Amino acid sequence: MRILLVEDDELIGSGVEFALRQAGYAVDWARDGRQAELALATHRYALVVLDLGLPVRSGGDLLKALRDAGNDVPVLVLTARGTIADRVRGLDAGADDYLGKPFDLTELLARCRALVRRSQGRSAESIAWRNLSVDLLAQSVTRDDTRVSLTSREWAVLTQLITHQGIPQSRTDLEESLYGWQEEIESNAIEVHVSKLRKKLGADLITTVRGIGYVIEKP
Ligand code: CA
Repeated sequence: MRILLVEDDELIGSGVEFALRQAGYAVDWARDGRQAELALATHRYALVVLDLGLPVRSGGDLLKALRDAGNDVPVLVLTARGTIADRVRGLDAGADDYLGKPFDLTELLARCRALVRRSQGRSAESIAWRNLSVDLLAQSVTRDDTRVSLTSREWAVLTQLITHQGIPQSRTDLEESLYGWQEEIESNAIEVHVSKLRKKLGADLITTVRGIGYVIEKP
């Protein structure tokens, strides 16, 4: 899953980026409102973590423009402005949740998970699929109660597919869930990961949708 982090403070930004990557997300980090706007126009994100006080264009402006354009990506707002009036304003502008600085990274991660879960219509961090049990929080998967070990990239592909059951994911969707801006994409990476996942978790897990990409059907 890919997250857009919008934060101009280097220290806070690098802490959040590190924590999100550790938690298995691909992260793009925009340092100002314009960069964020560009990123949002060109990529699909599972979540946006948005600082309100930004150079070039404020987070509030950005959020309003996003919602006016009909983009309903979940947005977690970060801000030092912690008064109730500010919080209400942020939520009214279309934020899905709100975290005042300073915040604890574990709380940030929990709120990110909750927002992503809600947007995917899930109520829990574990997903059962036939003989598989996928725990998104522990990043572990068991097949017939036996733990299967996956690489971080296999895990990212599996997560993208299993949280969008019945909705085919294009190669681009899958690549975007895997990589941040700085990373290079190997041309056949997705095919390789899918084939490994089929080998490890069962040939019937992932269906190829010709001309589109891949899907995990609803069990
Ligand atoms: Ca700021």
